[in-house]
Amino acid sequence: MNNKLKRFVSMTAAAVISAVSMPAVMPVTAADTTSFPYVIEGEDMEGADLWTAIYQTEIPGYSGKGFTYITGGPMSFTVNAPADGMYSILVKGAEILDENGKKEGRFQTIEVNGSEYSKTVAYSEEWTDYDFGMVRLKKGENEIKFLNKYGYMAIDYVTVSEAEFPDLSIADDTLTDPDATPEAKALMKYMKSVYGKNILSGQQEIYGGGHSVETTIRYDASQDKCLDSDGNEYEIDRDSKDTDKDGNTFYWHCTGSDGQVYTYNSQNRNYGYNDYDFEMKYLEKTTGELPAIRGFDFGSYCPCYAWDDGVAQRIIDWGTKKNGIVTASWHINVPTTMADYTLGEPLDFAKTTYSEKTDFVTANCYKEGTAEYDYFQLCIKNLAAELQKIQDAGVPIIFRPLHEAEGNGPADGKGAWFWWAKEGAEVYKKLWDFLRDELQNKYGLHNLIWEQNLYTWGDTSNQWYSGDDKVDIVGYDKYNTQYHRHDGNASGVPNEDAEAGIFYALYDMIGGKKIIAMAENDSIPSLTNMEVEHAYWSYFCPWYDSEQAHFVMGEEYQNVDTLTELYKSDFCITLDELPANLYTDSDTPDDVKVTTTTTTNDSDTDSALKGDANEDGKVSISDAVRILQYVANASKYDLSSQGKINADVDGKAGVTGSDAAEIQKYDAGLIKEFK
Ligand code: CA
Repeated sequence: MNNKLKRFVSMTAAAVISAVSMPAVMPVTAADTTSFPYVIEGEDMEGADLWTAIYQTEIPGYSGKGFTYITGGPMSFTVNAPADGMYSILVKGAEILDENGKKEGRFQTIEVNGSEYSKTVAYSEEWTDYDFGMVRLKKGENEIKFLNKYGYMAIDYVTVSEAEFPDLSIADDTLTDPDATPEAKALMKYMKSVYGKNILSGQQEIYGGGHSVETTIRYDASQDKCLDSDGNEYEIDRDSKDTDKDGNTFYWHCTGSDGQVYTYNSQNRNYGYNDYDFEMKYLEKTTGELPAIRGFDFGSYCPCYAWDDGVAQRIIDWGTKKNGIVTASWHINVPTTMADYTLGEPLDFAKTTYSEKTDFVTANCYKEGTAEYDYFQLCIKNLAAELQKIQDAGVPIIFRPLHEAEGNGPADGKGAWFWWAKEGAEVYKKLWDFLRDELQNKYGLHNLIWEQNLYTWGDTSNQWYSGDDKVDIVGYDKYNTQYHRHDGNASGVPNEDAEAGIFYALYDMIGGKKIIAMAENDSIPSLTNMEVEHAYWSYFCPWYDSEQAHFVMGEEYQNVDTLTELYKSDFCITLDELPANLYTDSDTPDDVKVTTTTTTNDSDTDSALKGDANEDGKVSISDAVRILQYVANASKYDLSSQGKINADVDGKAGVTGSDAAEIQKYDAGLIKEFK
C-alpha cells in the first residue's frame, strides 16, 4: 500500500496538426439492441474527421473511406447492449508519433459511460490490433468515447464484442521452488482447486506498533498485584521483574483472564497492548465470519531498528491453531541517506524509508563489495530468521516481497514509490531473483509460495514479470476509490467494481499460467459485480485501518451490507470453510508431515558465552538483532543480566550498537574472537 496513488503524466507539447479532409457525418442510432460483434469505421464516429494520410505519412490498407486521427475533440459511438456484462474493445489503429526517435508509444484513453480506461499504445506505422481489453457495459445504451489526452492514435475501425472468458483451469499449481515443503504444495493445490469457482476472503493486520490500546491496569506494589480500575486482577509475569529509575519494582508483562498479554508503559506506568486482531474482531462482529487468509508484514525486522512485533508467532498461531492461510508482504526500509548509516548500527526510524526518495542504490543489493549489498544481507538475515521459525512450525506463506513494483505505470520506464523499483524493471527482476536465491539456497527456506505484483498499464507492463519459473501467484493491488474509478461514482464512496478487465488483462499478460489474486485492496468487490463481470480473483485482502485511511471500517471504503452479503455467500470462502486437511492434502502423501512444534527463543541454558545475547547457546545474527532491539528500546526489549554480560563484546563498557556490529563481523567470519 502507498498513499501516493495519483498518476502523474507529463503533458508533452503536441505538434499542431490540422485535418486534411471534410468531417464525416454518420450519426449512430441505437434504438434496437446492437448485434455483436459490432464494427464501426473510425471515420464514421461522432465527432470524427476523415483522414487518408497524416501529413506526408501514408498508412495504407485501411478499410472504409479512410481513418480518423485523434487530435481535437472526442469521438464517440453508442452501442445498445442486450445485458449488463463484459464486452471487449479492439481498435485497428496506428501510433506514429515519434518523440526524439524513442518510439515508445503513447498513453491513450477511452471513456465508457463516463469512466476512463487507459493503456499505452505501442508505436506502429502499420495498422495494428490494439486490445483495450474488457469493459463493462450496462443493459441498454452505452457511449464509448476516444479522448484526446496524450495519445495521437489513428483509428481505422473499432470492434466491440461480447467478452469471451478464457480457461482459468490452465493455471499451474506446481510450485516454482522444486524443494517446496509438503505444506506449501498442499496449500497451492487447495488454492488451485477453488480458483475460478470461489473467492477466498482475506484481511491484512497492522504491523509494528499499530492499534495501541491503553488500559487502566497498573501494578499496585502495596498489594503486589496488577489491577485495573474495576478491581480485576491480572496475572503477573514474574520473570519480567524490573525496577524503574527511582528503584521501584514493576513487571513488564501481565496477562488477562482471556489470555491477552499487556505490556508496561514506562511513560504513564499503565499497561497496554497492540491490537493486531483489530480488523479481525470487527469483521467477526460485522459479518459473523473470519477471513480465510490473514495478511502480515515483516517490515518491523529492518536492520536499522529491528522491532520484534511478534509476527512470526502470530503467523504460526494463524496457521496451526486457526488452520488459516497466511500471506505476507515486506515493507523493508533502507537508510534515506546512506552517509548517515554505519553497518549494523541502529538508525532512527525517521532516517529510513521504503520510498524511492533515497540515495540507496538498488542495483548494488546484489553486488558484493557495496554498502547496499552488506545492508541488504542484514535485511535478508533478519527476514530469514523469522521465516525459519514459521517453516519449522510447518506453516507455508504466500510471500509477496518487493511489491507494487510498476506502481502507477510506465511514464518514465521506472517503477513507482518503492526503493526496490526505482531503477526500473531489469534491476527489480534481478533483485527478485537474488532474494529468491538467498532465501532458498543460502537459508534453506522452502515454505514460500512466491507472489508477484503486476499491473496492466500497457504493453510494457509485462517487463515487470519475473517469469513463469520465478512466480507462483500473480497479485494485483486495487486502490481505486480516488483514481481510476470505473464504477461511475464520485470519490468518497466505496468502489465495489470487480475489475474483471484488469483480471483478464493480467491473464493475457501471463498466458493464464498463474493463479491471479487481488493481493491488496481498498473496497472489496461486491458479490453482484464479481458475478456479472466473471471476475475470479483467487482472493481479496483489504489493507488495515489507520489514521490515514480506514480501509476496513470506513464507510468511504466498505459498504457494510455488501461486505456482509459477500462474506455470507457461498461464493466467498471464510476461515471456517477451509478444509481440515489444508496443509496435508498433498499429491505426495508420503512427504506429508504434520508439524506441531514451534520454535521459541526461550532457552534453559543460562550459560556465559561471549556474544550470546539471547542465551540460546550459540552466537548468531539473532544476537546482533537482539542487541539492536535492546539499544533501540531497552524498556521493551530488555536483556537478562547474563545476556548483558554476554552481549558486551566490543571491549568497551556497556551494551551498544557497536557490540551488535562485532557480532555481525563474527557471524560473517571477519573476526574469529571477541575483544
Ligand atoms: Ca476506416
